[in-house]
Amino acid sequence: MQRRAFLWLLVSGGAAASQTTAQLVAPRESTVVVLLGTGMPRPDPEASGPATAIVVGERVFLVDAGPGVERRLAAAHLPIDGVTALFVTHLHSDHTLGYPDLIFTSWVMGRAKPLAAYGPQGLRAMTDHILAAWAEDIDVRTNGLEKRTPGGYRVDVHEIGPGVVYDSGGVRVTAFGVEHGTWREAYGYRFDTPTRSVVISGDT
Ligand SMILES: [Zn+2]
Repeated sequence: MQRRAFLWLLVSGGAAASQTTAQLVAPRESTVVVLLGTGMPRPDPEASGPATAIVVGERVFLVDAGPGVERRLAAAHLPIDGVTALFVTHLHSDHTLGYPDLIFTSWVMGRAKPLAAYGPQGLRAMTDHILAAWAEDIDVRTNGLEKRTPGGYRVDVHEIGPGVVYDSGGVRVTAFGVEHGTWREAYGYRFDTPTRSVVISGDT
């Protein structure tokens, strides 16, 4: 088991990690939207959970982290060792079941810096509970034979409100409230990039 995991790591550390979809299809600062997952709560083998990548040059902005998100990133040749930032529309389980996957798999694949995550109130508590739930794994991977980067699993959580929540390197992200069932907080996001404006409404 250990040997297989190690060999796979070596393979994935080659072409997949060094040549991303961003580099393959997107000229510098172009904007590409990749539908990583379009499924619903019912497990559909043909559609992973909700997740959309907005690729700007070599930066990858992810909206929602449904189940299967890291495998879908791999399928799209996007980075499996950490996206630029995650934006969560709301905390429904089908939009967040891939959040632990995004946190831990990216760390196992080499992430050393905190994952930037933006979303509604409750995201911080969810993150804290996820890290607590996997405390044994964190300990083994840090102090055992793997020697993963200490603290590389960390998440920089931003609980947001409506307005500009991210503005860096020519990409501005504006959150706006949307109606979704009885959720007190659910957001859509508008991405303004050097070449496009993209709006993700979430489940509404
Ligand atoms: Zn929902």
